[in-house]
Amino acid sequence: MSDSASGMFVLLLVVFFVCGLAAAHVAGQKNLSSGGYFLFAFFFGPFGLATALLAAPAKAPVAIPDGMRAVVCTRCNADQNIGINAPRYSCWRCKESVAVARTASST
Ligand SMILES: [Zn+2]
Repeated sequence: MSDSASGMFVLLLVVFFVCGLAAAHVAGQKNLSSGGYFLFAFFFGPFGLATALLAAPAKAPVAIPDGMRAVVCTRCNADQNIGINAPRYSCWRCKESVAVARTASST
């Protein structure tokens, strides 16, 4: 390889590495896999970075209080916590009264 060709290769490597770092940072801000986006952007360069920028953020994991369970309203899709043995609940958003299926742990 000539000097200019190897210089170009090193420059591309640096650019793709920086794209990987930027994509990892963006993915971390959006609760997505930083390592996965780093590798993706390292191999695909600016296209990987664009993918990280355009990706929809993931929901942050939320701790469920003791004695409660998480359900999603069947009418409006709102997340909510209800008592672990509650047979039904009233949605905080749409006020719909929803019956919930019994689970094995509620016996
Ligand atoms: Zn609802």
